[in-house]
Amino acid sequence: MRAFNFCAGPASLPTSVLEQAQAELLDYQSSGVSIMEVSHRGDLFTSVLASAKARLRRLMQLPESHDILFMQGGATAQFSLIPSHFLHGVGAYINSGQWSIKAIEAAKRFGEVQVLASSEEANFSYMPTQASWDKLASNADYLHYTPNETIGGVRSPFVPEVEIPLIADFSSSILSETIDASKFDFIYAGAQKNIGPAGVVVVIVKRELLKTAKEQASPVFDYGKMLAADSMVNTPPTYSIYLADLVFKWLEEQGGVSAMEEINNQKASRLYSCIDDSGFYRNPVALSDRSRMNVPFILADDRLDATFLAESEAAGLKSLAGHRSVGGMRASLYNAMPLAGVNALTEFMRDFERRYG
Ligand code: PMP
Repeated sequence: MRAFNFCAGPASLPTSVLEQAQAELLDYQSSGVSIMEVSHRGDLFTSVLASAKARLRRLMQLPESHDILFMQGGATAQFSLIPSHFLHGVGAYINSGQWSIKAIEAAKRFGEVQVLASSEEANFSYMPTQASWDKLASNADYLHYTPNETIGGVRSPFVPEVEIPLIADFSSSILSETIDASKFDFIYAGAQKNIGPAGVVVVIVKRELLKTAKEQASPVFDYGKMLAADSMVNTPPTYSIYLADLVFKWLEEQGGVSAMEEINNQKASRLYSCIDDSGFYRNPVALSDRSRMNVPFILADDRLDATFLAESEAAGLKSLAGHRSVGGMRASLYNAMPLAGVNALTEFMRDFERRYG
């Protein structure tokens, strides 16, 4: 019996994907071995890698100008790798939450950073509009922002319009809604939310941007060298990439990203309505900037938190505790969370309110 798993990451994976992985675990395509037991340079794995890239390219409608890399070190490694490749003068950042802060702190170790706007004074409850930003430094190399802040539950309702390379941490919203990838010069996303298990981070980079890159000490963390080696400077996380390919296939079967977006909007609006209609639950984020992937909420009386968590867990609704830095609750509604999971959660929440509210 599978529970509804609201964990922010590593997160729920589609059951059919896990079933296929299970069916193929011991004997992959009649090879007599598991896909995780074969050489990354052999035909079996290189076709998995090619398939994963082709599917992701189709799903995101990536322009030919952009390439896909599978790297390691998570999104956290990217926080440092971006400035170490591309920061020559100033790195410009928007500070919309805890993950923005991590990216900003990492960049400061490589050079000058300009924070164009921050919502920290309002406890990261909104995304600063572009009209409110400071003027971009004339020697800014790139603008970095976080389209979806996983902890605060804040989504940018707009894509920044800038003349310099645009870099975005899509860790918690990649493939959850359609985007115009041609507007971005660099996208990265840790896999463990909407792509697959942890251990791989997807990087989508416009080849043009790589011309400005500084060479890196380690070739496994050098975008140009990774691209030249088709993500195989060294042994890639083969099993994570295999599972990512299965998730991409599942997404195609669901009708692709636009079909997913429709369901994700339904899921989120159902949960936000439940919160807003209650008077017992509260979400602090500005209406226009609410995340569709991560929905934090608090109870009217935080002495009920432990009871809420224990009872929801017992009802098969898992991992609803908020991030350790903020407390309260958080329901993550990534692609693999079905509408039925949100219905079960809202039913539980209404019932809990009746009994304790
Ligand atoms: N950025 C965002 C938006 C995230 O949600 C996370 C993980 N929750 C990270 C970066 C860090 O990812 P990782 O643990 O893969 O380094």
